[in-house]
Amino acid sequence: MRRIAIVGGSLAGVHAAEALRQQGFEGDVTLISAENELPYDRPPLSKEALLSGVAMEKLSLRAPEWYADNAITTRLGNAAVQLDTERRTVLLDDGTAVDYDGLVIATGARARRLPSTRNAPPVQVLRSIEDSLRLRERLRPGQHLVLIGAGFIGLEIAATARQMDLDVTVVEVGRAPLSRALGDEVGDWFRALHARHGVEIVCTCTVETIERRGDGAVLTLSNGRVLNADVVVAGVGASPVTEWLDGSGVQTANGVVCHSDLSTSVPGVVAAGDVARWYNPLFDEEIRVEHWTNAVEQGRRAAHTLLGNGEAFGAVPYFWTDQYEARMRFVGRASAATEVAVKELNDDRLVALYGRDGLVRGAVCVNVPRELARYRTAIRDQVLWDDIAQAQSAIGG
Ligand code: FAD
Repeated sequence: MRRIAIVGGSLAGVHAAEALRQQGFEGDVTLISAENELPYDRPPLSKEALLSGVAMEKLSLRAPEWYADNAITTRLGNAAVQLDTERRTVLLDDGTAVDYDGLVIATGARARRLPSTRNAPPVQVLRSIEDSLRLRERLRPGQHLVLIGAGFIGLEIAATARQMDLDVTVVEVGRAPLSRALGDEVGDWFRALHARHGVEIVCTCTVETIERRGDGAVLTLSNGRVLNADVVVAGVGASPVTEWLDGSGVQTANGVVCHSDLSTSVPGVVAAGDVARWYNPLFDEEIRVEHWTNAVEQGRRAAHTLLGNGEAFGAVPYFWTDQYEARMRFVGRASAATEVAVKELNDDRLVALYGRDGLVRGAVCVNVPRELARYRTAIRDQVLWDDIAQAQSAIGG
C-alpha cells in the first residue's frame, strides 16, 4: 500500500493519520477536509469557546507544523463528492481527484436542521467553529434564547447562555431532557438542575410554527403557548455524512456499515468516528456513537485495520458533558436498558446504573468521578446486574 487517503479532517481523521505514521507507514497520506480550518476540537464550541471566544490555535487538534513534520498532505476546503472504488479514486468538489490504495472514511456527522418554511427566521445550529462564532455574535445579555431540543448540545448551550445572562427556554418533545439517551429519571435530574439556574425546559411539547418578527421570532408550541425569541437554536441531533458514497458500493445505513474491525463492505476501505456504524461485540449490537473518545479510538483502530493489524473494536463508549457546576461522565450504553437504578445523592451528585440481559451496561456519574473507572471495568468484564446493583447501594452511604 503506497497511498492512503483520509476523507474528513477532524478528530477521527487526525488520529487515523497519526496512527498510520506511528505504525511505520511511510507512503503518502492525504487528509481531505470540507472545512477551511486545520482540524479542531468541537466540545469547546458549546462551552468555553461560546462563552468567552477561544482562539483557533487553542482549538486546533495539532499545530500547523505537525502536518509537515509527519508528511501529511492536507486538502482543506475540499469536499469529497464521489467515490470510485473500482479505480480507487476520490473525486473532490473542485474537479480534482485523489487516488488511493487505502481509504479512511471519517466524514462525521452534520447538525440536523428544521425544515425551512416561508417567513421563517434563521434558526441556528451548532456543529462547526463558524456556527459557534456566529451564535456568539448573536447572544446578548437580557435577550431571550429559545432552544429546540434538550439533548446534550442544547443543554450545554442553555447553560452557557445563562452564564451570558440571557433568558433561556428549551422546548423538548420527550418526557424529560436527555430521556432518549439516559432515561426519564436522569432526565428529570437535569431538568431540576436547569430550573435551579433559571432555565425552563418545556417537555412533551413540539414547536408548531416559527415566524419572523422584527429581528427575532415568534414560536407557537403544541401546548398552545407562544414564545417570543430574540435567537432560536435547534439542537435536534446530527446525521452521518454519507451521501458522497452513494453508488460506490460502500454499504451505508444510518452511517457506514462496518465489520467489528471497522473495515467496510469494500476491500481497502475503513471508517471511523461519528460516521461509522459497527458491530460492537461487547454489547452484541450494531451501534454508531457520536462521542469524542470513540472518534479518537476508532481513528487509530481503523488505521491499524487498513495496515493489516485489525482487531474487533469492542471499547466501552465514554462521554462527558459539563453544564454549570455539573460534570457528567457516562460509560457504556443506556439505550434499550431494561433496568435502571438511580441513586440521587443530592442536588449536585448523581449516580445511575443501566442494565440489560442481566448485565450492567451503562453508568452515569455527576460530580462523582472516582466511581466511573469501576463501572467501566464492570461493563467491560460483563459483571452481573445483581452484583453491581447490590454494590451500588453502598455508594454514598
Ligand atoms: P466530525 O468532528 O464531525 O468531523 C468530520 C469532518 O469531516 C468535518 O470537518 C467535516 O467538515 C468533514 N467532512 C464531512 N463531509 C466531507 C466530505 N464529503 N469531504 C471532506 N470532508 C468532509 N463529545 C463528547 O464526548 N463530549 C462533549 O462534551 C462533546 N461536546 C460537543 C460539542 C459540540 C458543539 C459538538 C458539535 C460535538 C461535541 N462532542 C462531544 C462530539 C464530538 O466532538 C464528536 O463525536 C467528534 O467531533 C466526532 O469526530 P469525527 O472526526 O468522527 O467527525
